[in-house]
Amino acid sequence: MPAKPPLTDRFGRTHTNLRVSVTDRCNIRCFYCMPEENVEFKPRHEILSFEELIRFARITSEIGVNKIRLTGGEPLVRKDLPDLIRELGKLNGIEDIALTTNAVLLAEQAEALKQAGLERINISLDTLSDSTFFRLSRRRGIDKVLAGIAAAQQVGMKKIRLNAIAIRGLTEDEILPLARFAMERSLELRFIEFMPLDAEDNWGTQAVLTGQEIRQILENEFGQLIAADRPDASQPAVDFHFASGQGRIGFINPVSEPFCASCNRLRITADGRIRNCLFSIEEWDARQLMRDGSSDDEIEQLVRDCVTNKNPAHGIDTPGFERPERAMYQIGG
Ligand code: SAM
Ligand code: SF4
Repeated sequence: MPAKPPLTDRFGRTHTNLRVSVTDRCNIRCFYCMPEENVEFKPRHEILSFEELIRFARITSEIGVNKIRLTGGEPLVRKDLPDLIRELGKLNGIEDIALTTNAVLLAEQAEALKQAGLERINISLDTLSDSTFFRLSRRRGIDKVLAGIAAAQQVGMKKIRLNAIAIRGLTEDEILPLARFAMERSLELRFIEFMPLDAEDNWGTQAVLTGQEIRQILENEFGQLIAADRPDASQPAVDFHFASGQGRIGFINPVSEPFCASCNRLRITADGRIRNCLFSIEEWDARQLMRDGSSDDEIEQLVRDCVTNKNPAHGIDTPGFERPERAMYQIGG
């Protein structure tokens, strides 16, 4: 059978990277992502089952997807996540499975995740301080997060990265302690600019602490940062290492330096909507097709329609920018 055409959009971007949100639930309440109270989670029957997720992943893997990242909400609150990882790992064409987590539950799950084949994990760590963690996430638990990081290292996960959100007026003082923490443990650290995806609509350009500013703060303390090789041009982060050779620091600057031109990402929300961008206004309903007896070909066509309709850029910086209706936890970060 001839190979199927890849998932290339109108601007020549070929989509090989699938972000799968496994839940919209979370055990903390980061203000930049979720509302503080009265969070409306989707009822369970509206969330894709593992069978549905695996079917969707298989269909996309047959048209070129080779990387999957599991996210949420908090993926570790989804029961039996290692089973899903194990099954996704069996799909032909999937070369890489990764997970993004807040690590609150990681200490207790690291071993099972590793056994299921997970080698790549991104841990969100915005601060080392208990009080700042509480201010940002409106919950206690930094001790659990730190224990989770230690557990991931202990079980021997090969690729552990720390991701820190950068918000002006809130996280400047976290930059140097986080960099030292990462260096001491030989972990990569990436700073991510705050995007307009918070649930309470408090985002504003003035709150974006840019990657450039963070780089300056780091260089003032540790000396010059030197650009690292960039083997994968589609990856959003620009990585550096210190002149001393110790430590690797990256910047994901979606607001100040958008990387839409090389975006190869496709998303499916926990309730089965396909999205071609974090900021897309439109969604394509894969769940309905999966539940009404539609064929794999029909679902493949829906994925293609979604990719074909992708805009050239997110447009955060343009006057007509419209925020998506759903917040980060409902989309899958
Ligand atoms: N719960 C997991 C976690 O926090 O790692 C996975 C989902 S979370 C939505 C994924 C990532 O999105 C986290 O690193 C988080 O910091 C980031 N994030 C959430 N809201 C954001 C926003 N408004 N702007 C930029 N990054 C955001
Ligand atoms: Fe939960 Fe992650 Fe959103 Fe924080 S960023 S509220 S940990 S989903």
